[in-house]
Amino acid sequence: RPALYVVATPIGNLRDFSARAREVLAQADVIAAEDTRVTGQLLKHFGIGTPMVSLREHNERAMADKLIARLAAGEAVAQVSDAGTPAISDPGAQLVAAVHAAGYPVVPVPGASALTTALSAAGFTCPHTLFYGFLPPKRKQRQDALAPLAALPYVVVFYEAPHRILETLADLVEAFGGDRTVVLARELTKTFETIRRAPLAELTAFAEGDANQQRGEFVLLIDAAPAATADSGEAGEHDRVLAPLVAELP
Ligand code: SAM
Repeated sequence: RPALYVVATPIGNLRDFSARAREVLAQADVIAAEDTRVTGQLLKHFGIGTPMVSLREHNERAMADKLIARLAAGEAVAQVSDAGTPAISDPGAQLVAAVHAAGYPVVPVPGASALTTALSAAGFTCPHTLFYGFLPPKRKQRQDALAPLAALPYVVVFYEAPHRILETLADLVEAFGGDRTVVLARELTKTFETIRRAPLAELTAFAEGDANQQRGEFVLLIDAAPAATADSGEAGEHDRVLAPLVAELP
């Protein structure tokens, strides 16, 4: 039946490619891929011969029209990005919106995402998470983006490119303070996977001291502002209500 299948691919370890994802890609009439060379290698590895078209940010709108015409002709369209889940800091959302608007089903085929993979291994008990994605590349803009995040009662998750990791850590120390707990999740599901949880200042020193830790792909997760935990708990609420009453007692 005509539908857009939004298919997650592995973020490193090829054994994380689900059986359903492989089946959907094999049976689709066309695969819209971020980079057809990258996806071509994956498909080849799994013996999948479905034809591909390229879906990039600059052609996403025009390509959406073409793919909707194929849905209208009764075809099944699959969408993938280079790695992980499409439309999360990756192209894809415009196509998904266009398919909704055209009235065809959108079927997610879930799998790996660096976001959920890193969060699952971070050990933060705060139940609220803000996924920020990539920070701006320029320092001033990055600092401006970080400033309002520091006091939020949420875990904040950033994607980061390898060449900027030390600069970003320095800016995070400045915005969140050196004592705030951070988790650095590097090369997830790959051979040199490193997941390290420490205060920001300590983690920065660790990354600065080892060039290997500056290579690869990273997710940085910052724990929620400490006041948030104290104020939002039941004890915090009791204090808030009881303190003024106690003050009134003779
Ligand atoms: N849509 C993808 C997802 O949800 O996993 C993310 C695509 S985004 C263009 C690429 C960024 O995701 C990298 O710069 C890094 O921050 C993160 N990432 C992807 N794979 C990773 C991995 N194996 N380990 C750590 N971070 C990863």
